[in-house]
Amino acid sequence: MLNEEHEALRQSVRDFAREVVAPVIAEHYEHHTFPYDVVRQMGKMGLFGLPFPEEHGGMGGDYFALCLTLEELARVDSSVAITLEAAISLGAMPIYRFGTDEQKAHWLPKLTSGEALAAFGLTEPGFGSDAGGTQTRAVLDGDEWVINGSKAFITNSGTDITALVTVTAVTGVAPDGSKELSTIIVPSGTPGFTVQPGYSKVGWCASDTHELTFEDCRVPAANLLGERGRGFAQFLRILDEGRIAIAALAVGLAQGCVDESVKYAKERHAFGKAIGDFQAIQFKIADMETRAHTARLAYYDAAERMLAGQDFKRQAAIAKLYASESAVTNAREATQVHGGYGFMNEFPVARFWRDSKVLEIGEGTSEVQRMIIARDLGL
Ligand SMILES: Cc1cc2nc3c(=O)[nH]c(=O)nc-3n(C[C@H](O)[C@H](O)[C@H](O)COP(=O)(O)OP(=O)(O)OC[C@H]3O[C@@H](n4cnc5c(N)ncnc54)[C@H](O)[C@@H]3O)c2cc1C
Repeated sequence: MLNEEHEALRQSVRDFAREVVAPVIAEHYEHHTFPYDVVRQMGKMGLFGLPFPEEHGGMGGDYFALCLTLEELARVDSSVAITLEAAISLGAMPIYRFGTDEQKAHWLPKLTSGEALAAFGLTEPGFGSDAGGTQTRAVLDGDEWVINGSKAFITNSGTDITALVTVTAVTGVAPDGSKELSTIIVPSGTPGFTVQPGYSKVGWCASDTHELTFEDCRVPAANLLGERGRGFAQFLRILDEGRIAIAALAVGLAQGCVDESVKYAKERHAFGKAIGDFQAIQFKIADMETRAHTARLAYYDAAERMLAGQDFKRQAAIAKLYASESAVTNAREATQVHGGYGFMNEFPVARFWRDSKVLEIGEGTSEVQRMIIARDLGL
């Protein structure tokens, strides 16, 4: 499963998270600013290129390498982790998997180096889970697509280094009468493409999230990603993979809760003892560790199946479901271990608590994961 290279990577990302991310992230979080300097250093370390081949500027690593990195980053901070997750899984991966040689040659070197970020626009203000509800339309006019519509909650879509967003749009009617969905690359700055002001969010406050609007936005016909009409199949594949990455990120948060709780339980005293001497606190922390460990095994299993070319849809959904719910529970329990200080933003567990909830929502809600698992069981 994990080899020496993976362990070395894990250690170097752990050091980076503690030495570079931890000292600055609370400030970014409080002021809702994007950590450009941290992202630049992650780019230098090659993290944005981890799972891509060297011919595209990548590091030639595998999906485990990405997952371990996300886990270690989220153990300290989730805004930085989701920035990397979205940049790779949702940003560069669709181009790598479905793009033409020209699209790959044009975009991937910038994306895999971290010099630029890409975003993925599937969700719209009126739908999320029900992706068939897409309203954004793209009409072919000569050799250009004309796009009209809007997208909601799009990560990495409005930073100074965002180079493009891939959007799903209705491009016609499929042979069975359903909507024909396709995916189109829209470079940042294209006339008619507007990035709305950032949302005020409960968590992930140092990550970048915007609503996007498209008004008669014209891009070349050659910006179609992969085949016309394959949009649905493309995002299903992207989301299946992305769920393993989100599970890894959730494990990191769940483990960060354990780290902070063990530390605090040894330092904090009540009734003449360290609170870690009370069995009630010990059991809480033991349960937190059990959840983090079990969730880790679930994502390892899903990643291993994916890398072996086996079907991994159910395992990815299980990992995402279990890891995100474990993260929420661990964050709640870690806050409890910290008492009143756990409710103060200066303590990392407060950030973990605020960052945990979205894990049960993004890249498929917990209900959607249960639907996928049940469907895979033949129900
Ligand atoms: C911070 C943040 C970043 C995001 N980044 C991106 C991004 O980069 N790109 C992108 O495309 N999207 C992004 N999203 C969107 C995210 O993927 C959606 O929010 C998510 O898929 C849920 O969609 P929704 O919000 O429309 O909820 P809805 O689909 O409206 O769901 C509302 C509730 O109804 C439940 N529900 C819906 N259908 C069913 C059903 N059939 N059975 C049972 N329950 C059901 C849901 O589980 C949920 O509890 C992001 C969201 C957030 C909050």
